[in-house]
Formats: sequence, C-alpha cells, structure tokens
Amino acid sequence: MQRRKYMKKIDVKPFGVTPDGIPVDLYTLENSRGVKATITNYGGIVVSLTTPDRQGKQTDVVLGFSTLEEYIQKNSPYFGCIVGRYGNRIAGAKFTLEGKEYVLAKNAGENHLHGGIKGFNKMVWKAGEIQSKDGVCLSLSYLSPDGEEGYPGNLSVTVNYTLTEDNALKIDYFAATDKTTIVNLTNHSYFNLAGEGEGTILDHQLLIHGGAFTPMSTAFVPTGEIRSVKGTPHDFTRMTVIGARIDKDDEQLRIGLGYDHNWVLDSRDGSLALAAKVVEPISGRTMEVLTTEPGVQFYSSNFLDGTLRGKNGKPYLKRGAICLETQHYPDSVHRPEFPSTILHPGEKYTQTTIYRFGVE
Ligand code: BGC
Repeated sequence: MQRRKYMKKIDVKPFGVTPDGIPVDLYTLENSRGVKATITNYGGIVVSLTTPDRQGKQTDVVLGFSTLEEYIQKNSPYFGCIVGRYGNRIAGAKFTLEGKEYVLAKNAGENHLHGGIKGFNKMVWKAGEIQSKDGVCLSLSYLSPDGEEGYPGNLSVTVNYTLTEDNALKIDYFAATDKTTIVNLTNHSYFNLAGEGEGTILDHQLLIHGGAFTPMSTAFVPTGEIRSVKGTPHDFTRMTVIGARIDKDDEQLRIGLGYDHNWVLDSRDGSLALAAKVVEPISGRTMEVLTTEPGVQFYSSNFLDGTLRGKNGKPYLKRGAICLETQHYPDSVHRPEFPSTILHPGEKYTQTTIYRFGVE
C-alpha cells in the first residue's frame, strides 16, 4: 500500500477491514522515553496510550478494544475517537443557518449526539506521517461531503496527533468549508490513570479551571443558564476527589447520573491554557489538559455498566473512566449567547488540545 512508503518513525500494521470492505491500519507512535500511543485511522481512535507511574512502570491508561471488529460490533461508546462534525447534543436534531433549516438524525432521544449515526468516529481517515518539531506526528484527514449527516458544506478536516518528548499527546484540529456550516470537534478518550479496566476513577482527583458550568435539562441539553460552580458539587476549582460528592442529592447530578456537564473554562480567548488536571494518587500518574477551546465536557462514564470488556478482558465499570472532552458548549447553534460554532467559507477552524502526562 502506497501510504506505508511514507511512514518513517511510525510503525504501521493492519487493524482490520470495515463492513464496507475498507482496510484500516493501526499506527504506533513512540517517543524516546518509551511512551507509546496506538491510533487507528478508523474514527481516528486512540486505541492505547501508555504512561509511566512513579516507579517508571508503563501502563495503558485509555479504555478501548484490541480489534477493529470489537469497536464496530460492540457499538463502542465513542472510546478514544474523533467526534464530529459536532460534539455533544443539538436540541431537536435540527438547526437554522442563514434562513435555511437543516435536519439531523435523532440518535439520542429527540436530540442529535456527536455528529449523528455515522459520525467522524466511524469514518476511515487518510493517514500519513508528517514532520513536526514537537515529536512524532500522525496526520489524519477526511473530506465530509456536503449534506453528510444533514450538515451543509463540504468540510475538509485534518487532525494531527503528535506524541511529544515531554509525554504529551497533542491534538491539532483544522477544518474548512465551502458553505456556511457548524463545527465542534473533540476527542472522546476515556482515561483511567490506574490503568484501563482498573476499577473506577472515583479516587482520582480533579481540578478544573472553570468557575461556571452549563446546567442541563433532563434531555441532557443546556438550559442556557451559565451557573457559578460555587457551593455546588461541580466546584473543582481546587483539586478534589471525584467520588467525594458524585452521589450527593443534587438536581444536576441526578439528571446526569453523575458528572456529564460542560464546564465554562476561565480562559476563553482562544489561547492555549490549562483547563484541567487529574491525579491518580496510588500510581502517582497525572494528566494535564491544555486547550484553546472555551469548554470541557467532564463525563464520569456513568453509562458504562461492566458489560463491555476491554483490551485486558477486564470489565469497564460504571465510572471506570474520566472523559475530558474539550469543546464549544453543547447546543451552541441554538444559543447565540454561547461562543459561536459557525464556520464560514474562507475561515479556518482550528483547535488544539494537549493531554500531558506526568507523576507526582
Ligand atoms: C456525553 C454523554 C454520552 C457520552 C457517550 C459524552 O460526551 O456527554 O452524555 O453518554 O458522551 O456517548
């Protein structure tokens, strides 16, 4: 296959064949400190990511499956994938842009979730290695045709995954359109810093640099309110154990079945800023999340229930992982008061998010 010729530092292996007969690959990125990420061009899924603990022991800290078949047949709950065209929910699965109504799939009750029935998480992306000063870089690109999943405009998307020498996975997103459209891209990795399948994340500690969040209705759609986290179980402005308040009798926790909310980040000017930090006290592993986005969805994997088993055969429990999906706020297309997700022809969509690993 021609694309393999260009791979220099990235090791590439076949990962399987999609139900439409398209072969997909698994790319291994490794830095000089022995940190390894494997990524497939099916959905841009981060399949595994190892990071060292205090003793230097490398463990895979993302949930996922060992084979392509499992991602497809087990209806993966967006493990590790690129989410697009639009992260999280669009109320009523429709929106109006420049006077025209666009109708989307209702794949979450009455609403549209994570780009629809066949979102970017199920697409086969073109893959190639590119030169980056930051580390070894896998570049994925996809052309989403006008009307795909109901969205207007031919949208060309590139996502660059760079594994850096300072043990970070850097994700740069780029998009351009030929008709006015909406875009909200993110990555949906499920992290457990004790190791994938190692119990729950209730003992992990979390800090979010966001003094407010967007409460939601029982349909999981923002009500439009921007509420201060002060005095609520959503206050992670100081490092706090995730499980400390998760089962409190709180309306928003009851609706979300735990944490499943968008935080309004303090830094919202588009510059790269620290959004969150996670600490797993036993292994000492830490993860910092830096982003250019104005929001982050903290989802405590409340819908996992132990029936899915991952790469090690261990069950993925309810609250067995933490997702920190950097994004524009859900349903922004209906909320002119939220930062805009509209992209016009001639404009460039960009977003950068860094998941940086360490120990303490
Ligand atoms: C959403 C959850 C959803 C999960 C998996 C998260 O981004 O906020 O409500 O269940 O993704 O689809």
